[in-house]
Amino acid sequence: MSYDVIIVGGGFAGMSAALQLARARRPILVVDAGQPRNRFAAASHGFLGQDGAAPAAIMREALRQLSAYSTVDFVHGRAASATGELDRFEVTLEDGDVQTARRLVLATGVADTLPALPGLTERWGQSVIHCPYCHGYEVRDRRIGVLANHPMASHQALMLPDWGPTTFFTQGVVALDAELSAKLAARGVAVETTPVIEVLGEAPAISGVRLADGRITPLEAIFTAPKTAPASDLAQQLGCALEDGMTGPHVKLESGQQTTVPGVYSAGDTASPMHNATLASAAGVMAGIGAHQSLIF
Ligand SMILES: Cc1cc2nc3c(=O)[nH]c(=O)nc-3n(C[C@H](O)[C@H](O)[C@H](O)COP(=O)(O)OP(=O)(O)OC[C@H]3O[C@@H](n4cnc5c(N)ncnc54)[C@H](O)[C@@H]3O)c2cc1C
Repeated sequence: MSYDVIIVGGGFAGMSAALQLARARRPILVVDAGQPRNRFAAASHGFLGQDGAAPAAIMREALRQLSAYSTVDFVHGRAASATGELDRFEVTLEDGDVQTARRLVLATGVADTLPALPGLTERWGQSVIHCPYCHGYEVRDRRIGVLANHPMASHQALMLPDWGPTTFFTQGVVALDAELSAKLAARGVAVETTPVIEVLGEAPAISGVRLADGRITPLEAIFTAPKTAPASDLAQQLGCALEDGMTGPHVKLESGQQTTVPGVYSAGDTASPMHNATLASAAGVMAGIGAHQSLIF
């Protein structure tokens, strides 16, 4: 059958888009590879009514609720390619199955690339984290390191003293001028310009970091912003424009979550420079409504 909308990606954004379309009684298909970005964290925080819930539990409940709507189909799998134009899109799954729809919603999230440093990957989402609002409270009052990975990392270093005593490791990517040094000092941030070369301790815990000159700085949590990129290249395949955000490229949007290609909507981390579950969910709602109304007006 041909669907009104195919939603690629069944995370916060995709499932929120699906819910609006399901409630509008439209035949839709959700294709999801089951690799949400926050799968490395034991708990998700800051989402109203879900604070502290396990990411997988939130998605299980979302799937249970969506499954009650008879016009929604689900496929567990990866969309390998997408082609077409308004009213005639074709999505080919990795198993070769081809599905068609009048509109697409791309909600595929992003892939994270951590700094290349021994000890970060195995602690990712636990003691190596990126978002103070998501996980800062859980490491409150502990010794916190901010590991610079892009020139704006000082922004995070200036925030983190609200959560705990902070050391800013500039890693050669942040230029310290007199103004920035004064701001960091005013916030009580210790600055370390010798690069970190290794994370120490029994993973997933951290006991400290080793610096290039052999010194060890005791720490219990590290904040670092990974580089990000859309988790799939479907947007590029369809000709959607991308634009640069602080941590990497994301899908460019016109109004109402529509991409630069008519009929292709996008939402969530893959289409935003700001990455947060609530924001992804809200954008998914807008994409679902946008796609629905475009079928009418
Ligand atoms: C470690 C970690 C912890 C986090 N903790 C929090 C937190 O506590 N609170 C908070 O607000 N935010 C948190 N975030 C951010 C949050 O995870 C994201 O903002 C949110 O998941 C974005 O939702 P999304 O739907 O855009 O993408 P995702 O949740 O990543 O979902 C995208 C889905 O699309 C699927 N997909 C990708 N490509 C394809 C394809 N080609 N075909 C089919 N399916 C595909 C993926 O497998 C995935 O299931 C955290 C992020 C990380 C990395």
